[in-house]
Amino acid sequence: MSWEVVIGLEIHVQLNTASKLFSGSKLSTGAEPNTQASLVDLGMPGTLPVVNKEAVRKAALFGLAINADICRHSVFERKNYFYPDLPKGYQTTQLDKPVVGAGIVEVQLDNGDKKTVRIHHAHLEEDAGKSLHEAFFDEKGHGMTGIDLNRAGTPLIEVVTEPDMSNAEEAVAFAKKLHAIVTSIGICDGDMSQGNMRFDVNVSIRKPGEPLGTRTETKNLNSFRFMERAIKLEVERQIDVLEDGGEIVQETRLYNGETHTARSMRSKEDANDYRYFPCPDLLPVEITNADLDALKAAMPELPDARKARFIADYQLSDYDADLLSGDLATAAFFEGAAKAGGDAKLAANWVMGELAAKLNTEERIISSSPVSADQLGQLIARLKDGTISSKIAKQVFEACWAGEGDPDAIIEAKGLKQMSDSGELEKIVDDIIANNAPQVDDYRNSDDAKKKKKIGFFVGQAMKATQGKANPQQLNQLLKDKLG
Ligand code: ADP
Ligand code: MG
Repeated sequence: MSWEVVIGLEIHVQLNTASKLFSGSKLSTGAEPNTQASLVDLGMPGTLPVVNKEAVRKAALFGLAINADICRHSVFERKNYFYPDLPKGYQTTQLDKPVVGAGIVEVQLDNGDKKTVRIHHAHLEEDAGKSLHEAFFDEKGHGMTGIDLNRAGTPLIEVVTEPDMSNAEEAVAFAKKLHAIVTSIGICDGDMSQGNMRFDVNVSIRKPGEPLGTRTETKNLNSFRFMERAIKLEVERQIDVLEDGGEIVQETRLYNGETHTARSMRSKEDANDYRYFPCPDLLPVEITNADLDALKAAMPELPDARKARFIADYQLSDYDADLLSGDLATAAFFEGAAKAGGDAKLAANWVMGELAAKLNTEERIISSSPVSADQLGQLIARLKDGTISSKIAKQVFEACWAGEGDPDAIIEAKGLKQMSDSGELEKIVDDIIANNAPQVDDYRNSDDAKKKKKIGFFVGQAMKATQGKANPQQLNQLLKDKLG
């Protein structure tokens, strides 16, 4: 009997508020260490926290987006532990009365199957600072650890799922959907490389029909790829341990993406160990009916609705609509290019094809694409009206990517307009036929099937003579007419 895998996720989502959860300092912008931390963030005696209403609003908006109950009087608690990046000695978080209660996220898997993942709850909490290990050296050359508190107090929501996923693919599909939701409702910038979303994966295995097995938790995975690999690695490890007659120890593990290895960090602690208690400095956070009505009225378009709209308005396939609607920045880029170019199918193909490939190789996110949606739209318009061929379009795209200007300007400057004056093209075709008598004879003595292949030679010659600018349809017609 094979093993059954059980996965539950805890996801830290960084809220994109103007200031921190309990102080007026700005969220870290990568400034010099400790220049964006106030006395409150440092937990200095005599300072008091004040809850950031925008953070509460954003957390509640998330709750509404996943059809969750919103707690009307949610309570902040202190989770007590020592770590150098936590000067207060406790993290202000929520435990029994989190702002967002149970909810639901619908996920579509790669094979088209649907899956429902239950959300246990989502709570508001502050982030800690960062330890910069071996960032400094003493006079003897010993590495020292520095503490940067710019991140301390950054507002997060921690989203906790039920253990509803049964393989790495499902977990990744869920993670991507969550990313789509939080970016679509505008509560998180979603830049994984900046740690805007961090995943902890809880994994256990069991034989079908057995109760849940002991789980481990692998912490702080900051990319979908690492998450998928870390889950697979942990499942393999657990199978090895159990099949060798061993036992799984409940523990927290750390995954190293570069070496694709994981190690035990600490044995798992219980909530009791942290001596949680309600924070005496903060009143319960009240959310009224009027607050909820206002949030509902201002709810931005959610990914599922956007996908349905893409299918209805742009006649995209389910697959294309799924890919293009998930990430808000991608969706906006696609719509911009489709409108500017007047052709949604071409825009979809370019965004998922050339643009995605280029972003991928240069490890850029779409919001930092050197080619704008308007520029891609212009390129598509020139393709559609026959000014350029698709081959030339790729060349124009490259030039535009390299910063050489708008597609129209590039086409003009480089003389890339498709040769659609048939007189000019006809002369080139005539020359080719005159200069390649043996190939012409061979073509004319071939049957239709062979002719289809052999015409390629003449197309190639003509494209060479015109530097790729011949209109392919016109060229084919001319060649067929003249070769017979
Ligand atoms: P704790 O209170 O110890 O943090 P929770 O019950 O809150 O534990 O669960 C934390 C996360 O672990 C949740 O995402 C949950 O779905 C997941 N989880 C719980 N039990 C298992 C298990 N046996 N296998 C896999 N995941 C699990
Ligand atoms: Mg928990």
